[in-house]
Amino acid sequence: MSDEHPTAIEIKGNPLVCPICKNDRFTIRHALLNTRATTFFGLDFLNKKAKNYVCSRCGHILWFLSAPGDAP
Ligand SMILES: [Zn+2]
Repeated sequence: MSDEHPTAIEIKGNPLVCPICKNDRFTIRHALLNTRATTFFGLDFLNKKAKNYVCSRCGHILWFLSAPGDAP
């Protein structure tokens, strides 16, 4: 399984479209938001996994925090 191929993404039943170039193909990245800074500033809610969808056309990155209960 590869996340490298641009693919259509659906969020809660809605097709994801790049707000910049209206492209609908994205590559998927996973990010960990877990830094001392977030803890220091009381942003522990950010200490979780996030998904990044990178527009395959313009490179714009859309961030989504994984919802509770999401499979890791
Ligand atoms: Zn784009």
